[in-house]
Amino acid sequence: MPSRIFNFFPGPCTLPLSVLEKARDEFVNYQDSGMSLWETSHRTPAYEEIHNAAKDLMHEVFQIPDTHDILMISGGGTLQFAMIPMNFLTAGKFAQHVITGWWAKRALDDARSVGDARVIASSEDVNYKYVPKDFKVDPKAEYLYVTTNNTIVGSELHEYPETGDIPIIADMSSDILTRPVPWDRIGLSFAGLTKNLGPGGMAVVIARKDMIEKSNKSLPTYLRYDIHSEHNSMFNTPAMFCIYIMKGILEWTKEQGGLEAMDRKADWRANKIYGVIDKYPEYYQCLVDKQDRSRTNLCFRLPTKEMDKKFSIEALAENMSGLAGYFQYGFCRASLYNAMPDEGVEKLEQFMIDFMERNPA
Ligand SMILES: *Cc1c(COP(=O)(O)O)cnc(C)c1O
Repeated sequence: MPSRIFNFFPGPCTLPLSVLEKARDEFVNYQDSGMSLWETSHRTPAYEEIHNAAKDLMHEVFQIPDTHDILMISGGGTLQFAMIPMNFLTAGKFAQHVITGWWAKRALDDARSVGDARVIASSEDVNYKYVPKDFKVDPKAEYLYVTTNNTIVGSELHEYPETGDIPIIADMSSDILTRPVPWDRIGLSFAGLTKNLGPGGMAVVIARKDMIEKSNKSLPTYLRYDIHSEHNSMFNTPAMFCIYIMKGILEWTKEQGGLEAMDRKADWRANKIYGVIDKYPEYYQCLVDKQDRSRTNLCFRLPTKEMDKKFSIEALAENMSGLAGYFQYGFCRASLYNAMPDEGVEKLEQFMIDFMERNPA
């Protein structure tokens, strides 16, 4: 195996090589301190600097206004499925959920185990082949819950809905840091680190300060947003390694030209691969409607299931991994996150054409 292959896995997924190399170099003896950062108290200046820089960089790079606070909470994106309703869906309140995929469904299930979570729109009946947009949010709803990118089915919410005074709660796990966000509409958003931001096991939560203030105060401490906020996400020992890598990725993002560059690059990557799909519609077929296609998780199928399988196996032999889709769906999926090198996209583009020529329908 070569030292580095093109990694198209949906998450955990490819991370910037320079960030990994720097972590390797600093791993055992952090900045000549004679010990690693992982053996250092999180209350030391060495760690606190990283912790605060990660937050500041997140504000800066993702263009988050001061109306919102950034929390770093263990438990990944998945814990947020529970924390959100526990904090905001208290007795007498209800939430409205847009169901656009597998993760949206998981969030709904968890919300329903806590309180009154209602479905406002869903494309489940057609295998999530589109993202519903024609709905009117009830002005009495506590929040509208959306998933901005559907990692498994390969669709994306390209426009944030207009919801008036109703805050949007958004799962941005798989398209965070790929485009600007209308923060004035976002009550709370979150992302499991494991896609664009680092190793698994932690989530970054971006929450409007008044939402934090009105969160449920009768929960066990770790589950309270206000506690995390008051303690600057150091209520307990934070996920130091996750935060260290996230900081590195945010620095890298800035060096690459920031959010605008990420946005432009996401377009470029998606256009390359969808370009092949659209050019050979008899051979490659997308699973979602054109206007709702994801820029980070591109799902497509070949003429037969056997060919889907062959595609990902032969791609691996050419050092492109992770192209098989989610097991329940059985198609191909190319995840093109921010750290995907241009050469990886070009190589996949060429491979798709070669594969088709070698294996006619
Ligand atoms: C990966 C993912 C999650 C879960 O994140 P974890 O950190 O693995 O818990 C949630 N939502 C979406 C959209 C995801 O892609």
